[in-house]
Formats: sequence, C-alpha cells, structure tokens
Amino acid sequence: MSLIPKSHPRAKSLLIREKLVSGFDRGLVAKEGLLAHGRGEAFDYLLGEKTRKTAKLAIRASAAQILLADLPVISVNGNIAALCPKEVVRLANASRAKIEVNLFYANAKRRRNIINTLKKNGAKEILGINSSSSTILPGLDSARRIVDKNGIFAADVVIVPLEDGDRTIALRKIGKKVITFDLNPLSRTSQTANITIIDNVTRAMGLLIVECRNLSKKNKRILEKIVNDFDNKKNISDNIIEIRDNLTRRSCIA
Ligand code: ATP
Ligand code: MG
Repeated sequence: MSLIPKSHPRAKSLLIREKLVSGFDRGLVAKEGLLAHGRGEAFDYLLGEKTRKTAKLAIRASAAQILLADLPVISVNGNIAALCPKEVVRLANASRAKIEVNLFYANAKRRRNIINTLKKNGAKEILGINSSSSTILPGLDSARRIVDKNGIFAADVVIVPLEDGDRTIALRKIGKKVITFDLNPLSRTSQTANITIIDNVTRAMGLLIVECRNLSKKNKRILEKIVNDFDNKKNISDNIIEIRDNLTRRSCIA
C-alpha cells in the first residue's frame, strides 16, 4: 500500500519511484539502477513530468520502424522489469517483437527474478536465458555483450529503454537500428540512437503500444514515409527548446 496521498502535486512521479524501490527490494533492480532512475527523475522534472510533442513524434516514428522490422527485439533490464513489465509484453504482442533480458550488472538470481516477473505478466517466450544460444556482441566489455543468437544478435531493430551509451554505440556499429526511451536528451544513448523517445518510459510505453496498434493497419509505404520524415537530431533539439520553455514558464510563475 502506497503512503503517497493522491493530492500530492508530484504523486505520479513518487509512485514511479516507489515502483522502482519495490523492484529493488524484490531483487529486480541493481543499486546502480536506483541512481540511473534518479538521473531520469531530474530530467523528467525539467520536462514538467509530461509527454511533450517531440516524444509523441518519436513514438509515432518508433511504431512505424518496429512494424517495418523483420525482427524487432525489446531488450529488458532490471529497471524496465520493475517499472513496466506488463507493457513490455503488450508491446511485444502488438508488434511481433521478441523479448530479451540483457543486464549490465549480470547476476543469475536477478536474471531469474526478472524472467519470473515477465512470465507473471504474460510473456510466453523470453530470450537471453539459454546459454546454448548465446553469442558475443563485439565492442563491449560488460555482461551486456552476451546476447541471444536468435534475438538481439539477429535483430534489425532493437528497442533499448534506459540504456547505457556504450551498448547503443556497439549496436549501431554492427548495423542495428536502435530505438530508445531516455529522459536525458544529452546522454550518449539519446545522441546515438536512431530514434530517441525523450519521455518517462512509464508514460511513453503505453503510447507506443497504442501507436503500434493504430499503424498496424497502414501499408508499408505509409510506414516508410513516417520513418523517413522523422529527423532524430532535430527532434532532440526541439526537446531542449521544450525544456527551456517549460523552465521559463516555471520561473515566471515563481
Ligand atoms: P549514457 O551512458 O547514455 O551517456 P548515462 O551514463 O548518464 O547515459 P545510464 O545509467 O547509462 O546513464 O542510462 C540510464 C538512462 O536512463 C539515463 O540517461 C537516465 O536519464 C534514463 N532514465 C532513467 N529512468 C528513466 C525513466 N523512467 N524513463 C526514461 N529514461 C530514464
Ligand atoms: Mg552510461
């Protein structure tokens, strides 16, 4: 039971924090994941804790890109398993994407907890479990270099929410199209992904699922046009303007 009153002006953000702390207590989230979340909270504060126009544009382009993919894969880490496991499964169902567990701070027990959480939320097939189908992603030192031959390794589009820059760069170097959710428009991940959704993953994931369902009725030509018309660099610059405008408004009110 949450102790946060619904009337609290930042109730939503505090509830998200509670989810993450509970994920830590349940052995899903690494200590470092708590710090990454704090960094995300700071940027969400600057954004005004709401989904901005640039995020909506990036979500639409992401949905089109995922629907065009031959093999889209959603990479799941501890923070994602704690914050939105149900949405990961729904996104996979709405887009024929596979789900793969990939951890920076790998640890067998945490991996098992994450897999169980995904299963409880309806995941049928989860990759990144079976060492007999694993292989090495070049250009990385950490445990994240171990990927599934039938998943991230074979994917043409990889969805990496809350990701570290090294891994995004390594995925781009071997020709993968990378879609990320990242609240920090200046992170290396944001700057190197093909499509950066600058929004809280807890708000944006649901919108991406709806967009995948809507666009699944469109033909390939329309989907390609949506992807080709999207300019990630411009969208990131526009997001920084959104942040600036929000801060200007806030400081005028104060
Ligand atoms: P990079 O390695 O890409 O330069 P970093 O080292 O600052 O980034 P990491 O810990 O590697 O950060 O990645 C986590 C990223 O996820 C951070 O940019 C953080 O702002 C972002 N983040 C944290 N929580 C959320 C959330 N709930 N929704 C969206 N993004 C988030
Ligand atoms: Mg990093």
